[in-house]
Amino acid sequence: MAKGKINVAVENIFPLIKRFLYSDHEIFLRELISNATDATLKLKHLSSIGEFKGNLDDVKLEIKIDKEGKKLHIIDQGIGMSQDEVKKYINDIAFSGAEEFLDKFKDEKNDSGIIGHFGLGFYSAFMVAKEVEIYSKSYREDEDAAHWVCDGSPEYTLKKAKKEERGTEIILHIDDDSLEFLEESRINELLSKYNKFMPVPIKFGTEEVADPEHEPQTIKDAEGKETKEPQKMITVDRIINNPNPAWTKQPSELTDEEYKSFYRELYPMQFEEPLFHIHLNVDYPFNLTGILYFPKLSTNMDVQKDKIQLYQNQVFVTDNVEGIVPDFLQMLRGVIDSPDIPLNVSRSYLQADGAVKKIASYITKKVADKLSSLFKNDREGFEKKWNDIKIVIEYGMLSEPKFFEKAQKFALFPTTKEAYVTFEELQEKTKAAQTDKDGNLVVLYANDTEAQHSFIEEAEAKGYEVIILDSPIISHLIQKLESENEKVKFARVDADSIDKLIQKEEDQISKLSEEDQQKIKGYIEEIVPKEKYSVQLEAMDSKSNPFIITQPEFMRRMKEMQQTGGGGGMMGMGGFPEMYNLVVNTNSDLMQKILKAKGKRTEYINQALDLARLSQNLLQGKEMTDFIKRSYELMNN
Ligand code: ADP
Repeated sequence: MAKGKINVAVENIFPLIKRFLYSDHEIFLRELISNATDATLKLKHLSSIGEFKGNLDDVKLEIKIDKEGKKLHIIDQGIGMSQDEVKKYINDIAFSGAEEFLDKFKDEKNDSGIIGHFGLGFYSAFMVAKEVEIYSKSYREDEDAAHWVCDGSPEYTLKKAKKEERGTEIILHIDDDSLEFLEESRINELLSKYNKFMPVPIKFGTEEVADPEHEPQTIKDAEGKETKEPQKMITVDRIINNPNPAWTKQPSELTDEEYKSFYRELYPMQFEEPLFHIHLNVDYPFNLTGILYFPKLSTNMDVQKDKIQLYQNQVFVTDNVEGIVPDFLQMLRGVIDSPDIPLNVSRSYLQADGAVKKIASYITKKVADKLSSLFKNDREGFEKKWNDIKIVIEYGMLSEPKFFEKAQKFALFPTTKEAYVTFEELQEKTKAAQTDKDGNLVVLYANDTEAQHSFIEEAEAKGYEVIILDSPIISHLIQKLESENEKVKFARVDADSIDKLIQKEEDQISKLSEEDQQKIKGYIEEIVPKEKYSVQLEAMDSKSNPFIITQPEFMRRMKEMQQTGGGGGMMGMGGFPEMYNLVVNTNSDLMQKILKAKGKRTEYINQALDLARLSQNLLQGKEMTDFIKRSYELMNN
């Protein structure tokens, strides 16, 4: 038997390990299972090159809880270690690795990002154990088995052991403050979080299943009645993982149904089917596989819960893919698996990393290509999905210039007539009617077809097309589209009277004399609050409403952009006052009434103003009460 001292620079590294990553203690299990998996895969590799002759068909790992003995066992049938190898790999290499890791990150432990996901390795066992034992037997038959024990001080013992089976068994003597790791439910939870898709089967306990060899027969009972024999049950290993998850296969090997069932495997609590998937598969200049799913987003409130999961060689790392997946795609679901993403670095470093940037742009490109092929091959289907996917696309167009370029070909604009057009089609369709006297194409849009009903009707009566843009970030996107397309202007239908929105050469002739117009303006300005409304006279169709309240496009849009973040230089202006235009139609018959009425002039003006506010949903509280009272009075007089 050998006693030894691990070569430590700091006298007591173990208390440090224990304190380190306090909230992340649970990762010890993932680390040990990863080691066990590696040991198994190494043996498989040796077998594939003829260095190992044994049968490996049924190799698996096993996790066992010994509640009474307060022990947790992690057992593999992998390549194993001789005494010399334990000394070399565990005492020297692993230990210095852990030491280096701690040294590097002990000051950064509050970066709850990716740090700590990898790197601590075998010694993470001491976060939960007061003593750790290793029994190991090398695949090389002539080597003795080894037994290593360490109680958390730098001293260890290493001796020959009696172990017949090939592989390694790690025994953790769980510390009193970590007894949760002796609970079956807790271990189950960890296994399904970190190891659900690891490449070697993992056994945890047993389960009763119907004997597949046994076909229940129909038998006759004493009275001659026919019954079915009971199903014979057998006890089998309970394997907790799927060693061959869908993303490790080729797209050609998978059916649509298999993609969907993998989605359910990933998110067992998600009952809505994904809209479509994107299979990622690249091996140069970096390695990456994965499957992304587009979920229905419009009505979904738990976007935050089911996130894209990041794996490294089928080991779960994190579901915080910030920095790796572009922001706008974080609303998607699925998995990404890459050995090339550096994981034990901070997020700020990650974002600056060249390889990671390439990964993000590859993913962006794949998503754009998929959307583009869906659009080309099944436009109708794409249109049906549009409302569920538009947030992602619009956000992408805003944040990624490359994506914007591609998306211009497939981004859709729904019209009030239930058609879906691309931006190019829209321009083609509206060019003739909606180009104003300065040569600008004016794109009319609504964000609420109910509230803006009367404005939409006016526009449609003129033969104009109105599109529906109702996403929260739409004002930013409009701004972007305008800056990319010089002679295109967007205007919400209620931003002004329709003739002002799309100004043509011919001026409407006013029925009122200049003098009467000034009178009308004076009367109205006397009554309506100046700080809220600016009165504008306009000669419109006599059938159009006499008063219309509008909010100038520019002001409203800037305000919206301020509310949804960004908005450029306008942020410093300290908010916009709530100002509206009161457009007065001088050709409306009501103008004669206002001019001639003496006693009722105030009522008429107030009534018309309130009706205009009512149609814009601006009438509330006392003003609404006054309006109703006045309406009755007017009827009675
Ligand atoms: P890493 O896995 O990053 O190399 P670890 O500290 O986890 O670092 O392990 C150190 C080394 O110990 C491994 O590289 C491996 O050679 C050896 N080792 C650990 N666990 C096992 C195991 N279950 N079977 C065989 N060798 C192992």
